[in-house]
Amino acid sequence: MKNLKDLVRPNVWNLKPYSSARDEFHGEASVFIDANENPFNTPYNRYPDPMQWELKKRIGELRGTTPDTIFIGNGSDEAIDLLIRAFCELATDNVLSIDPSYGMYEVSANVNHVGFRKVRLQSDFSLDPDTLLAQIDAQTKLIFLCSPNNPTANTLKREDIYRVLNGFEGIVVIDEAYIDFSSSPSFVPELAQHPNLVVLQTLSKAWGAAGIRLGMAFASPEIISLLNKIKYPYNVNQLTQEKALEILNREADMKEQLRNILAERSLLETTLPQVACVKELYPSDANFMLVRVEDANATYEYLVRQGIIVRNRNNVTLCEGCLRITIGTPEENTVLLKALNDMSL
Ligand code: PMP
Repeated sequence: MKNLKDLVRPNVWNLKPYSSARDEFHGEASVFIDANENPFNTPYNRYPDPMQWELKKRIGELRGTTPDTIFIGNGSDEAIDLLIRAFCELATDNVLSIDPSYGMYEVSANVNHVGFRKVRLQSDFSLDPDTLLAQIDAQTKLIFLCSPNNPTANTLKREDIYRVLNGFEGIVVIDEAYIDFSSSPSFVPELAQHPNLVVLQTLSKAWGAAGIRLGMAFASPEIISLLNKIKYPYNVNQLTQEKALEILNREADMKEQLRNILAERSLLETTLPQVACVKELYPSDANFMLVRVEDANATYEYLVRQGIIVRNRNNVTLCEGCLRITIGTPEENTVLLKALNDMSL
């Protein structure tokens, strides 16, 4: 890896971040009159912990890492945006990703006027790391790899990810939004071996909390400090911090839901191929299935008429004719299967 200083935008490296009242004093006291808050209406009159330490402690316990290696944001979308803003100089630098993949890497690059290059996956949705590495130039600062990948549902091969981690001198971001549904282990325990690694996770998927907006980035304390420097001071509100802690303290509930979703995924893996309009079902390591059907647009429209909304991926690279179907409750999956079977009568 290059020196962090040579990768980061100079204005970010030299930035003196905003210092909030809660940054300047933390600890116990009887009278808090330092932050221009309203003294009534407790507890929501108070600004939340800008560094979310209690949450980071719990996430660290769950993921086997320390709080200083964790950034928490308003969804992992915030971390994606901040990474681009920390490392990529406007109208000069570029980021690299795979195609097809999660759309926000490209959108965030475009919003920040940063170049975006994508390398097509192979027909089996695997990554050719050498083709990816060949796209790197002196201005490439970040590579986003989504694994398990959205919308293709496969986990990228570990040796291919190592090849990218070891073959690139910039930052490699592995988006593990769907990791809990995969049989492959997370890269979080390998942070110490790879100073250029950032891992993204979220409460929006397996933890069932997309509505509270909480995403995480795991990386070296040096990279985490950079993200903390440029984030909004109170980027994760009090309600979200409280609810997230409550959810993370009920890990058994998450595991139970996970078992249910994985059992339903197995069921769909056996039943969907028997549906007449289904031409191909791709293996899934996520909480959704990518399904190639006879006519994706017509099937999508038909399902909408039945009140069933799936994601039409017909216009996405390598996904022509495909629908992306999230695993629902057993009842929802039964309704879907019945509708698909009725259509093909
Ligand atoms: N990464 C991937 C791969 C996703 O599919 C999604 C959401 N669909 C996200 C990140 C966004 O996560 P969050 O809700 O934490 O912003």
